[in-house]
Amino acid sequence: MIEFMADSTNQPTIGILALQGAFDAHARMLQSIGAKTALIRKPEQLASVDGLVIPGGESSTFLKHLEVAGFFDTLAEFVSAKPTFGTCAGVILMAKEVLNPAQKSLGALDVTVERNAYGRQNDSRILEAETSLPGGPIEMVYIRAPRITRIGPAVETLAEREGFPTLVRQGHLLAATFHPELSHDPRVHQLFLDSVKHWDSVKSLQV
Ligand code: GLN
Repeated sequence: MIEFMADSTNQPTIGILALQGAFDAHARMLQSIGAKTALIRKPEQLASVDGLVIPGGESSTFLKHLEVAGFFDTLAEFVSAKPTFGTCAGVILMAKEVLNPAQKSLGALDVTVERNAYGRQNDSRILEAETSLPGGPIEMVYIRAPRITRIGPAVETLAEREGFPTLVRQGHLLAATFHPELSHDPRVHQLFLDSVKHWDSVKSLQV
């Protein structure tokens, strides 16, 4: 069940990491549910947003773009403290451990992910599955998706594929190995937007 409730009086700004990959579709989806969005291309821009989307793309290419002065460290600091929603390559970047092959990551989300884990023939497809979100099954677009093979005790699974978590939440972090921005269903983005709006109160409840 969704624990966060929207507050229409308080519109946060959601940054979308726009170094490469599918950032436009996230911006459109977030704007369609009333969010203010900002494309993030420089580390100093992170200071002006309340939450961040790390989109899909190619995680190794993201890492190359993040090599510019202080970007990786500034991003790691943001993700450790502020609401962040990663999809696909974004999950790989947020993960504590990356396999196939092992790769540097931000280490915030207590999961192990295997890149491109669904094999060549099945690695891109559209499925429908139940989630803990109200409103019935959700469409899941998988594109050369990673597989979450381990979750830590603080990680909650909201949806699965073949017994492996595909939508997970850990405190201020939300991660989907599929691409909700490519479907016409705003529920996952709404969950994230609501969590950004209520992050301060959620944080105080957790203490
Ligand atoms: N296969 C990509 C990677 O390993 C992720 C694919 C995606 O984001 N759609 O980074």
